[in-house]
Amino acid sequence: MNDLARTIRVVTLYPDVMSIYADRGNLIALRARCRQYGIGCEVTAVGIGDGLPADADLVLIGGGQDQEQRRIAADLAARGVRLRDWAEDDVAMLTICGGFQLFGHFYRTAEGEELPGVGIFDVTTVAPAPGAPRCIGDVLADAGDLGEVVGFENHGGRTYLGPHARPFARMRHGFGNNGDDGTEGAVYREAIGTYLHGSLLPKNPAVTDRLILAALRHRYGPGVKLETLPPDPYAERAHRAAAAVARRRGRPNP
Ligand code: GLN
Repeated sequence: MNDLARTIRVVTLYPDVMSIYADRGNLIALRARCRQYGIGCEVTAVGIGDGLPADADLVLIGGGQDQEQRRIAADLAARGVRLRDWAEDDVAMLTICGGFQLFGHFYRTAEGEELPGVGIFDVTTVAPAPGAPRCIGDVLADAGDLGEVVGFENHGGRTYLGPHARPFARMRHGFGNNGDDGTEGAVYREAIGTYLHGSLLPKNPAVTDRLILAALRHRYGPGVKLETLPPDPYAERAHRAAAAVARRRGRPNP
Protein backbone atom coordinates (compact mmCIF):
# COMPACT_ATOMS: atom_id res chain seq x y z
CA MET A 1 0.00 0.00 0.00
CA ASN A 2 1.62 3.24 -1.05
CA ASP A 3 1.94 6.01 1.47
CA LEU A 4 -0.51 8.36 -0.18
CA ALA A 5 -3.32 5.81 0.31
CA ARG A 6 -2.84 5.77 4.08
CA THR A 7 -4.93 8.14 6.17
CA ILE A 8 -5.68 8.13 9.88
CA ARG A 9 -8.93 9.50 11.36
CA VAL A 10 -8.19 11.64 14.42
CA VAL A 11 -10.79 12.80 16.94
CA THR A 12 -9.77 15.67 19.16
CA LEU A 13 -12.05 16.02 22.20
CA TYR A 14 -13.01 19.48 23.49
CA PRO A 15 -10.00 21.23 21.93
CA ASP A 16 -11.49 24.62 22.79
CA VAL A 17 -11.75 23.73 26.50
CA MET A 18 -9.17 21.06 27.29
CA SER A 19 -5.85 22.38 26.07
CA ILE A 20 -3.95 23.87 28.95
CA TYR A 21 -0.13 24.33 28.84
CA ALA A 22 0.04 24.07 25.03
CA ASP A 23 -1.53 20.61 24.73
CA ARG A 24 -2.91 21.65 21.32
CA GLY A 25 0.70 21.23 20.24
CA ASN A 26 0.15 17.48 20.28
CA LEU A 27 -2.17 17.72 17.27
CA ILE A 28 0.25 20.04 15.50
CA ALA A 29 3.12 17.60 16.09
CA LEU A 30 1.00 14.63 15.03
CA ARG A 31 0.04 16.34 11.76
CA ALA A 32 3.66 17.30 11.07
CA ARG A 33 4.90 13.76 11.71
CA CYS A 34 2.17 12.33 9.48
CA ARG A 35 3.29 14.69 6.71
CA GLN A 36 6.86 13.40 7.11
CA TYR A 37 5.52 9.87 6.63
CA GLY A 38 3.23 10.91 3.76
CA ILE A 39 0.21 9.78 5.78
CA GLY A 40 -3.10 11.64 5.60
CA CYS A 41 -4.52 13.01 8.85
CA GLU A 42 -8.30 13.67 8.90
CA VAL A 43 -9.18 15.60 12.07
CA THR A 44 -12.64 15.88 13.65
CA ALA A 45 -12.98 18.28 16.59
CA VAL A 46 -15.70 17.17 19.03
CA GLY A 47 -17.06 19.78 21.46
CA ILE A 48 -19.76 19.66 24.12
CA GLY A 49 -22.97 18.34 22.53
CA ASP A 50 -21.30 17.33 19.25
CA GLY A 51 -21.74 13.79 17.94
CA LEU A 52 -18.78 11.42 17.83
CA PRO A 53 -17.83 10.06 14.36
CA ALA A 54 -18.82 6.45 13.68
CA ASP A 55 -15.18 5.39 13.95
CA ALA A 56 -11.76 6.79 14.72
CA ASP A 57 -8.17 5.59 14.66
CA LEU A 58 -6.74 8.04 17.22
CA VAL A 59 -8.31 10.11 20.01
CA LEU A 60 -6.66 13.14 21.63
CA ILE A 61 -7.71 15.07 24.75
CA GLY A 62 -5.66 17.69 26.56
CA GLY A 63 -5.61 18.90 30.13
CA GLY A 64 -7.67 21.49 31.97
CA GLN A 65 -8.10 23.04 35.36
CA ASP A 66 -10.95 21.87 37.63
CA GLN A 67 -13.43 24.34 36.14
CA GLU A 68 -12.73 23.15 32.59
CA GLN A 69 -13.02 19.53 33.70
CA ARG A 70 -16.33 20.36 35.39
CA ARG A 71 -17.60 21.85 32.09
CA ILE A 72 -16.98 18.69 30.05
CA ALA A 73 -17.15 15.81 32.57
CA ALA A 74 -20.84 14.89 32.15
CA ASP A 75 -20.68 15.24 28.34
CA LEU A 76 -17.54 13.07 28.24
CA ALA A 77 -18.90 10.43 30.63
CA ALA A 78 -22.01 10.14 28.43
CA ARG A 79 -19.68 9.05 25.60
CA GLY A 80 -18.16 6.33 27.79
CA VAL A 81 -19.68 3.32 26.02
CA ARG A 82 -18.36 4.35 22.58
CA LEU A 83 -14.95 5.39 23.96
CA ARG A 84 -14.55 2.13 25.89
CA ASP A 85 -15.53 0.17 22.77
CA TRP A 86 -12.89 2.10 20.80
CA ALA A 87 -10.25 1.38 23.48
CA GLU A 88 -11.10 -2.34 23.37
CA ASP A 89 -10.78 -2.15 19.58
CA ASP A 90 -7.23 -0.77 19.96
CA VAL A 91 -7.99 2.77 18.84
CA ALA A 92 -4.91 4.82 19.75
CA MET A 93 -5.54 7.39 22.48
CA LEU A 94 -3.46 10.15 24.03
CA THR A 95 -4.99 11.71 27.15
CA ILE A 96 -3.17 14.44 29.03
CA CYS A 97 -3.47 15.38 32.73
CA GLY A 98 -7.08 16.51 33.33
CA GLY A 99 -8.13 14.54 30.26
CA PHE A 100 -6.22 11.51 31.58
CA GLN A 101 -7.93 11.85 34.97
CA LEU A 102 -11.36 11.79 33.30
CA PHE A 103 -10.42 8.68 31.30
CA GLY A 104 -10.05 6.93 34.67
CA HIS A 105 -12.93 6.08 37.04
CA PHE A 106 -13.32 9.56 38.58
CA TYR A 107 -11.55 12.76 39.61
CA ARG A 108 -12.41 14.02 43.11
CA THR A 109 -11.61 17.72 43.49
CA ALA A 110 -10.10 19.38 46.57
CA GLU A 111 -13.62 20.49 47.47
CA GLY A 112 -14.79 16.86 47.46
CA GLU A 113 -16.77 17.07 44.20
CA GLU A 114 -16.50 13.79 42.27
CA LEU A 115 -16.36 14.18 38.48
CA PRO A 116 -17.25 10.94 36.65
CA GLY A 117 -14.69 9.36 34.31
CA VAL A 118 -15.14 7.03 31.34
CA GLY A 119 -13.29 4.17 33.06
CA ILE A 120 -10.81 3.25 30.32
CA PHE A 121 -7.88 3.42 32.71
CA ASP A 122 -8.19 1.54 36.00
CA VAL A 123 -7.12 4.61 37.93
CA THR A 124 -8.69 6.99 40.43
CA THR A 125 -7.62 10.56 41.13
CA VAL A 126 -8.12 12.55 44.30
CA ALA A 127 -6.98 16.11 44.92
CA PRO A 128 -5.76 16.81 48.49
CA ALA A 129 -7.40 19.47 50.67
CA PRO A 130 -7.35 23.07 49.37
CA GLY A 131 -3.99 24.71 49.89
CA ALA A 132 -2.01 21.45 49.65
CA PRO A 133 1.05 21.72 47.36
CA ARG A 134 0.52 20.95 43.68
CA CYS A 135 2.72 18.62 41.62
CA ILE A 136 4.54 21.14 39.45
CA GLY A 137 7.76 20.91 37.54
CA ASP A 138 9.90 19.43 34.81
CA VAL A 139 9.66 15.69 34.30
CA LEU A 140 12.06 13.04 33.09
CA ALA A 141 10.77 9.46 33.12
CA ASP A 142 11.47 6.05 31.59
CA ALA A 143 8.69 4.79 29.32
CA GLY A 144 10.03 1.29 28.65
CA ASP A 145 10.41 0.54 24.93
CA LEU A 146 9.53 4.18 24.17
CA GLY A 147 12.68 5.20 26.02
CA GLU A 148 13.07 8.41 28.00
CA VAL A 149 10.14 10.86 27.96
CA VAL A 150 10.19 14.49 29.01
CA GLY A 151 7.57 17.11 29.75
CA PHE A 152 6.09 19.51 32.25
CA GLU A 153 3.52 18.74 34.95
CA ASN A 154 1.12 20.91 36.93
CA HIS A 155 -1.65 19.06 38.75
CA GLY A 156 -3.23 18.98 42.18
CA GLY A 157 -4.83 15.59 41.74
CA ARG A 158 -2.98 12.47 42.85
CA THR A 159 -3.64 9.44 40.66
CA TYR A 160 -3.47 5.87 41.92
CA LEU A 161 -3.31 2.79 39.68
CA GLY A 162 -5.79 -0.03 40.22
CA PRO A 163 -4.90 -3.71 39.76
CA HIS A 164 -5.64 -3.62 36.01
CA ALA A 165 -3.59 -0.53 35.22
CA ARG A 166 0.01 -0.40 34.02
CA PRO A 167 2.05 2.81 34.34
CA PHE A 168 3.07 4.67 31.18
CA ALA A 169 6.46 5.45 32.68
CA ARG A 170 8.64 5.26 35.79
CA MET A 171 9.75 8.57 37.27
CA ARG A 172 13.36 9.78 37.38
CA HIS A 173 12.71 13.48 38.02
CA GLY A 174 9.35 14.99 38.97
CA PHE A 175 6.22 13.92 40.87
CA GLY A 176 4.34 11.77 38.34
CA ASN A 177 0.99 10.24 39.29
CA ASN A 178 1.14 11.01 43.00
CA GLY A 179 4.69 11.84 44.11
CA ASP A 180 4.86 8.63 46.13
CA ASP A 181 4.93 5.42 44.06
CA GLY A 182 7.25 6.51 41.24
CA THR A 183 4.69 5.85 38.52
CA GLU A 184 3.72 8.22 35.70
CA GLY A 185 0.48 7.96 33.75
CA ALA A 186 -1.15 4.72 32.67
CA VAL A 187 -1.55 2.58 29.56
CA TYR A 188 -4.41 0.33 28.48
CA ARG A 189 -4.11 -1.48 25.15
CA GLU A 190 -3.30 1.43 22.72
CA ALA A 191 -4.48 4.17 25.09
CA ILE A 192 -1.88 6.34 26.84
CA GLY A 193 -2.61 8.56 29.83
CA THR A 194 0.06 10.92 31.08
CA TYR A 195 0.58 14.09 33.08
CA LEU A 196 3.17 15.37 30.63
CA HIS A 197 2.26 18.73 29.15
CA GLY A 198 4.58 20.89 27.21
CA SER A 199 3.36 19.72 24.82
CA LEU A 200 4.37 16.11 24.96
CA LEU A 201 4.65 15.02 21.32
CA PRO A 202 6.98 17.65 19.85
CA LYS A 203 9.70 16.59 22.33
CA ASN A 204 8.97 12.85 22.26
CA PRO A 205 8.75 11.64 18.62
CA ALA A 206 8.87 7.98 19.70
CA VAL A 207 5.48 8.48 21.37
CA THR A 208 4.09 10.16 18.24
CA ASP A 209 5.29 7.24 16.12
CA ARG A 210 3.71 4.73 18.52
CA LEU A 211 0.36 6.52 18.21
CA ILE A 212 0.58 6.77 14.40
CA LEU A 213 1.48 3.08 14.04
CA ALA A 214 -1.36 2.02 16.34
CA ALA A 215 -3.77 4.23 14.40
CA LEU A 216 -2.61 2.78 11.06
CA ARG A 217 -2.94 -0.80 12.37
CA HIS A 218 -6.41 -0.05 13.69
CA ARG A 219 -7.46 1.04 10.21
CA TYR A 220 -5.40 -1.14 7.87
CA GLY A 221 -4.64 -4.23 9.93
CA PRO A 222 -1.86 -5.58 12.18
CA GLY A 223 0.58 -6.12 9.34
CA VAL A 224 1.14 -2.41 8.74
CA LYS A 225 4.69 -1.26 9.30
CA LEU A 226 6.09 2.26 9.73
CA GLU A 227 9.40 3.01 8.11
CA THR A 228 12.09 4.61 10.26
CA LEU A 229 12.43 8.33 9.64
CA PRO A 230 15.81 10.11 9.91
CA PRO A 231 16.26 11.78 13.33
CA ASP A 232 14.38 15.09 13.58
CA PRO A 233 17.03 17.61 14.74
CA TYR A 234 14.48 19.98 16.26
CA ALA A 235 12.71 17.26 18.26
CA GLU A 236 16.06 15.86 19.40
CA ARG A 237 17.27 19.28 20.54
CA ALA A 238 13.98 20.03 22.32
CA HIS A 239 14.10 16.63 24.02
CA ARG A 240 17.69 17.06 25.18
CA ALA A 241 17.01 20.56 26.49
CA ALA A 242 13.93 19.44 28.43
CA ALA A 243 15.79 16.44 29.85
CA ALA A 244 18.65 18.66 31.02
CA VAL A 245 16.22 21.04 32.75
CA ALA A 246 14.42 18.13 34.42
CA ARG A 247 17.74 16.68 35.66
CA ARG A 248 18.74 20.08 37.00
CA ARG A 249 15.41 21.27 38.45
CA GLY A 250 13.08 18.28 38.58
CA ARG A 251 12.26 16.73 41.93
CA PRO A 252 14.59 13.67 42.15
CA ASN A 253 12.95 10.29 42.61
CA PRO A 254 14.57 7.83 45.01
N1 GLN B 1 -7.47 20.02 37.35
C1 GLN B 1 -6.61 18.83 37.41
C2 GLN B 1 -5.63 18.88 38.60
O1 GLN B 1 -5.37 19.95 39.10
C3 GLN B 1 -5.82 18.68 36.11
C4 GLN B 1 -4.88 19.85 35.84
C5 GLN B 1 -4.33 19.87 34.43
O2 GLN B 1 -4.89 19.34 33.48
N2 GLN B 1 -3.16 20.55 34.25
O3 GLN B 1 -5.12 17.84 38.98
